[in-house]
Amino acid sequence: MEYLTVTAAQQCVLESIKSLGTESVGLENSLGRVLAEDIRANRDQPPYDVSAMDGFALRSADVANAPAVLEIVEDIKAGDMPQKTVLAGQCARIMTGAPVPQGADAVIRVEDTQALSDTQVQINVAVKSRNDIRDRGESMKNGEVVLPAGTEITPGAVGMLAMVKRASAEVYRMPRVAILSTGDELEGLNDPFDANKIPDANSYALMAQVQALGITPDLLGIARDEPGHLKEMLQRGLQYDVLLVSGGTSVGVHDYVRPTLEALGVQMKFWRVEMKPGHPMAFGIAPLTWVFGLPGNPVSSMVCFEEFVLPALRRMLGCTRVHRRTLTARLTHDVKHKHSRTEFVRVMLSREAGGYAATSTGAQGSGILASMSVAEGLMVVPATSRGMVAGEQVTVQLLDGAEYQNEAGGEW
Ligand code: AMP
Ligand code: MG
Repeated sequence: MEYLTVTAAQQCVLESIKSLGTESVGLENSLGRVLAEDIRANRDQPPYDVSAMDGFALRSADVANAPAVLEIVEDIKAGDMPQKTVLAGQCARIMTGAPVPQGADAVIRVEDTQALSDTQVQINVAVKSRNDIRDRGESMKNGEVVLPAGTEITPGAVGMLAMVKRASAEVYRMPRVAILSTGDELEGLNDPFDANKIPDANSYALMAQVQALGITPDLLGIARDEPGHLKEMLQRGLQYDVLLVSGGTSVGVHDYVRPTLEALGVQMKFWRVEMKPGHPMAFGIAPLTWVFGLPGNPVSSMVCFEEFVLPALRRMLGCTRVHRRTLTARLTHDVKHKHSRTEFVRVMLSREAGGYAATSTGAQGSGILASMSVAEGLMVVPATSRGMVAGEQVTVQLLDGAEYQNEAGGEW
């Protein structure tokens, strides 16, 4: 099989992914999920014409030649229903959100009036009909779709669900994800220290990447580089919707992952991608499971997660926007590029006049996890690039944690 470009490999993955059916979720657990149903308004909101201000509801014709003195016939608080009709020469004291009484066609804010007594007020300025009245149904009309299916539930959407009295909503089911590391050289987090071994970082970095999407994965542990044990572990992983297996996907004599997956009936779609870091990257489909064979090197494994697993998981979750947001930044130094693979350089971002500056996190070896731990983005060096120079505008894919900065950003 040929090497695929990053784009072709992403397409191959996404073409085979679909959402996983739906389930009902309570409002308190709905943040970040994706609606599988249209949410409709169950009433007009506001349910009647209401005041937008604390002030007086009046007949605009009465104050056309302001100042004018009006008689106050009642007090209407939010939650009250008006009892009286406002006649010529009259008004009602009204609070924000309270229903506008019959007869009144405008509201004037209290700042433009002057109290004369408990029952009399002087109106200082003229107002037009409908002034400071929020129309019935202005926010939403009974029956209208306020959140279409496919909406990612943000805090604002949670507010909308509550506004239409939905205590639960139908959302796409979350995938069940298993994570498996492979390699005789690996030592588990709770194993005794062994100077000759390499700590299994991938299980945990991948766990965190999955968690950042709101999904709790199961860690299956470490499979030895021995076909029997590997097969047993992979079989467990094939009970899940998604299996992420790192290491052992290359062409070394002890890289048994691919043949073992194939022996278990997984149809491999690709196992090499023209990218750096990360080219021994495999993807296959089993009856129940999408299988991602990620490179063993920790940085490669994380970058391949970003490029292939993240969009796939987001598609399963029902999201339409499956890719990371990119921004354009000014590169602060030269970057060499002497091969024809797409490269993902770990960068930090800083704000500057007119945008952002991108600076490499330092040594970019695919085993140097520190380069990933401080990275805010992946700068994309296209396969065709012959290198990039300081000052050039580059594309950066944002990583988790890149939403924040230490200053508010300006004088507002
Ligand atoms: P492999 O793809 O199995 O040949 O692994 C490539 C490199 O990644 C080797 O140096 C491994 O020791 C390292 N590696 C593989 N799996 C892990 C892991 N789970 N955590 C940290 N390093 C790993
Ligand atoms: Mg290995």
